[in-house]
Formats: sequence, C-alpha cells, structure tokens
Amino acid sequence: MGEETDFIIVGAGSAGCVLANRLSEDPRNRVTLIEAGGSDARFFVHLPLGYGKLFYDPAVNWMYQTEPDPGLAGAADHWPRGKVLGGSSSINAMVWIRGQAEDYHDWGKAVRGWGWDDVLPAYRAIEDNEAGEDAFRGKGGPLFISANQRGLHPLVPTYLEACAQAGLRTNSDFNGADQEGAGVYQMTIRGARRNSAARAFLRPAKRRQNLRVLTQAMVTKVMIQNGRAVGVEYRQGGQAKVLLARREVILSGGAINSPQLLQLSGIGPAEVLQRNGISVLVDNPNVGRNLSDHQGINYTWEMTVPTYNDVLRPWWGKLWAGMQWALAGQGPLAKSINHGGGFFRTDPAMTRPNMQLYMQAFSTLLPKAGERPLLTPDPWSGMSLGLSNCRPTSRGSIEIRSSDPMQHPKIVANAFSTDHDVTEMLAAVKYLRHLAAQPALAKLIKRELRPGPEIQSDEDLIADFRARSGTVYHPSCTCRMGDDPDSSVLDGKCRVRGVDGLRVIDASSFPSLISGNTNAPAILMGWMGANKILGK
Ligand SMILES: Cc1cc2nc3c(=O)[nH]c(=O)nc-3n(C[C@H](O)[C@H](O)[C@H](O)COP(=O)(O)OP(=O)(O)OC[C@H]3O[C@@H](n4cnc5c(N)ncnc54)[C@H](O)[C@@H]3O)c2cc1C
Repeated sequence: MGEETDFIIVGAGSAGCVLANRLSEDPRNRVTLIEAGGSDARFFVHLPLGYGKLFYDPAVNWMYQTEPDPGLAGAADHWPRGKVLGGSSSINAMVWIRGQAEDYHDWGKAVRGWGWDDVLPAYRAIEDNEAGEDAFRGKGGPLFISANQRGLHPLVPTYLEACAQAGLRTNSDFNGADQEGAGVYQMTIRGARRNSAARAFLRPAKRRQNLRVLTQAMVTKVMIQNGRAVGVEYRQGGQAKVLLARREVILSGGAINSPQLLQLSGIGPAEVLQRNGISVLVDNPNVGRNLSDHQGINYTWEMTVPTYNDVLRPWWGKLWAGMQWALAGQGPLAKSINHGGGFFRTDPAMTRPNMQLYMQAFSTLLPKAGERPLLTPDPWSGMSLGLSNCRPTSRGSIEIRSSDPMQHPKIVANAFSTDHDVTEMLAAVKYLRHLAAQPALAKLIKRELRPGPEIQSDEDLIADFRARSGTVYHPSCTCRMGDDPDSSVLDGKCRVRGVDGLRVIDASSFPSLISGNTNAPAILMGWMGANKILGK
C-alpha cells in the first residue's frame, strides 16, 4: 500500500514546524513532515529586508489571487503565502505580536481551554525574548525574539514624538500588559537574519532519527476509511505516492490550503463538494467559511530629511547597505520593512485599540497595473505611515474550483463589505494625517504624496482606500475551532468533527482573528496543538 509513520504533518509552516519539533521530542514517535515547497536555503529568505524580493517569487510563494473584490474597487488582490520550509514565516515581515488579552478572552468563550490564562504560559514557554523575562515575556524558549532597539532610523524617534504630541503614549512592549501606544515592534530576527519557524523549530529537530522531512511533496488528499484518517496521497517528482499514518494526520497547510485539502478529501459544504464531483464524507458548511483578514493602507510623504529611499536607490547606497549588513549585521537590510509601530483607538470611547500602525522610513514607487512592487524606492526622500484594522467584521470564503488539487481555490476576500469596516477605516486614515500634522513630523514634511492633498472629502477618502488598500496577509479562521458544532470545523483539541485521527492546526484553526499580526498565534497553535496531542 505505502510507507507508514505515526504522525503525518502536512505543511512545514509556522505551526507545522513547531509540531514537527514537539512531536518528535519523544523518540518513540515517528513523524513525517510533508512540504509542498523546497529548502529555505536562499539568500533573500535569510536577509530580513529580502522580504520584498520574495513577494512575487513563485519559487517560495503560492502567489494566490483573490476574486475581483467589489470592496477593493473591483481589483483582484495579490495574496502571497510561503511555499518553502518555514511557510509564511519564511517570507513574512517578521513582526512579533501576540494580540490583546481580550482576543483570547473571546477565544476562551468560543472554545474551552484557549483563554488568555491558557495561552499566556504557552507564549512564555515559546519565547526567548531579548528584552528579558517578565510576567508576559518568556526567556530560554526555542524562539529568539529581537527587542529591535539597535540602529533605529532617526525618523523613528521623531515618529514616536509626533504620536506623543497626538496623545498616543510610547509603549515599550506591545506584547506586555497593554497593547495601546506607539513604539517599535519586536521581531523574529536573530543575528541580523530572519528567525523563521524552520530556523527556530525545524532545524534543531532535523537531526533526530525519528523525524523525516519530505520537500517538493504536495499532499493531494487525506485518505479516510470507515470514518478515520489513515494516511495521505501526495505527489513528488511527478509521481503519485501514499503515506499511511498509524496514529494521526495533521493538516498545517495554512488558512487557504487546509480548507482546500479538507474539501478535496470530502469534508466541507455538501453543495460545494457535489458541484465539483467529490463524494461527501462529512457535510460541514463551515469548512472554508469565516475567512477573516486584516486590510491595510499606506499614506506617504516627501520629507526634507534623508530616508532609506536615499540609501536604497543608488547602486553605491545598496552596496553600502550590503556591507553594513554583512560586516556589522546592521543597516536597513538587517531590519523589517516596518520601522515603527503602534496601536490606537479611532474612538476614545472604545475600551481597546482597533487599529494597528506601521511606520516606514521609506516610500515605494506607485505600482504598475496588477503589481505592488516593494523595495523600489521613490526618487525622493519618502516616509510612509500605514495602518490595518484589528478586528474587521467582513468575512470571505475559500472554495475549491474543481477536484484538481493543483488548481488554486477560489478566494473571496469580501474586503470592506460591512459598514463597520468602512466607517472605522475612514476614521483611521484621518488619524494618519493627524499624526503627520503634529509639530515633530510636520516640520520635516515637504508634501503629501499619497493619496495627495486633493483627496479630502469622506467620499474621496473611502474611494482612495478602496482603490489602494489590500490584505496585510493575515487570512485566518477558515477551519475554526469552537465548542459549538454548528459554527465550527474543529473541537477544542483541533480535531476535525466527524472524522477520527484528523486535526487541523494552523492559522485556519483560530476561533477568531486576533488584534495584530498572525505569525505568533500560528506558532501558538502549533505549540498548544502539540500539547493537546501529547496530552500535556
Ligand atoms: C507577505 C507576508 C507578510 C506577513 N507579515 C507578517 C508579520 O510581519 N508578522 C506576523 O506575525 N505575521 C505576518 N504574516 C502572517 C504570518 O506569517 C502567517 O499568518 C503565518 O505564517 C501562518 O502560519 P500557518 O502555519 O497557518 O501557515 P504557513 O506558515 O503559510 O504554512 C503552511 C505551509 O504548508 C505548506 N502546504 C500547504 N498546502 C500543502 C500541501 N497540500 N501539501 C504539502 N504542503 C502544503 C505550504 O507550502 C506552507 O509551507 C505575513 C504573511 C505574509 C504572506
């Protein structure tokens, strides 16, 4: 029939790498990790600002496109996802944010065992935080987190001063007691190199005899017999193969691929499966539904002082930046694209932040049709202030288009499809100009570039963010966990309802989207999911 292993993990991404590490700690467990992409031994994966080079690179990226979205002025949005060891943690912007305690209070209400008091010890166990240990941060765990305090661009303190002038206090730890304020993000960067889940969790485990990692191997179906997952079918090197699981199959393919694979395997909305000629094993309308994602936009200004545009545009500047990185582990290439950050409320009556800020000491060229080129600096000294919504109410979906596993599924993002999301984004973009008008920044600004001073009315501001905004790459919740079987796909142990021996553990399992970037909670899913499997 095929080879056998104890645990099959599908996908070596943020969650999958953690699972591979934790499950193979016990030498009695034989674990096989199957990854559709290849090795992460690539220069631009390891160079932090190499981020921009991976954005459209099909060698490491699934390069998804959404359906044309009415909420984005009819545009189809580009959705990069990592297709390489480390998954999206190998191509992301490396910001380390856990979210707000209240997000996990919501998780705890939706599913027992996932409240703030449950996840905080797990986060602390995961982290080796450069900022040191306290009631919130962890030290000595497998994942080094950079406090990101060295070599900040001079505009970062100016940005913090402007935020303070606008009444937004400086916050030295967004992952501490309170998320609100402006500051610099902690980063998954170690020694001036990206600290992906592959580097932090998979590499140390790879030498174990009981862990096998298959790359360039695409799982096409979960094999289910008599209501139990018994293995997977996959393709590698042009050949169709089978691998059997003595204990469990765990899907960690991410928020797009995991629901796709469930649907291809006969688990999902009956009507969608039947339309695509797939026999229905479990009719669950929630598979691929509840797609939640953050939407973001940048405003840019020309400055009277030098920014990274002046360094990264000329060839000699690039050479200088390359030398700074190679010789000293410093300079713009050693950093994330996001130099400053923050969280604020669009309405002071709110009890917690509903918007996330990003400050970049550079600005990029206007995109050509269908593109969002990164790292092509404007031919002047530019600065960007961007934001994304923390808890959007718009929901989309993932659906297979055919029974062909190689065909990308249909992604309906439904961005800005609720009045709530449009109204709060309108208030938020006005806040960006409010920040830029504060004395600390205003004195250094020559002119507003985008959207430009002619865009003033509410109608024009909305039209602008519909035309220029897009995903900030956090799709989640498409196989969500919950105690309520009618509105969820998974139970509180990440087990797929209606099938034995099958779990989904990745960003698709989130009960709801958290207020911030999603790598930390995806890694948390891997960690907590392993605890559930191991009975810890
Ligand atoms: C461009 C970009 C920027 C981002 N920036 C940030 C940031 O700064 N901070 C942050 O916190 N988050 C960020 N994110 C989001 C974050 O990285 C993801 O939410 C997180 O990595 C998701 O983890 P995951 O385990 O769910 O899936 P992934 O990490 O995407 O892993 C899924 C893995 O499964 C593999 N796979 C899928 N299907 C199959 C199959 N059928 N067979 C075999 N293998 C398969 C994939 O190739 C991939 O390696 C960003 C994401 C992107 C794309």
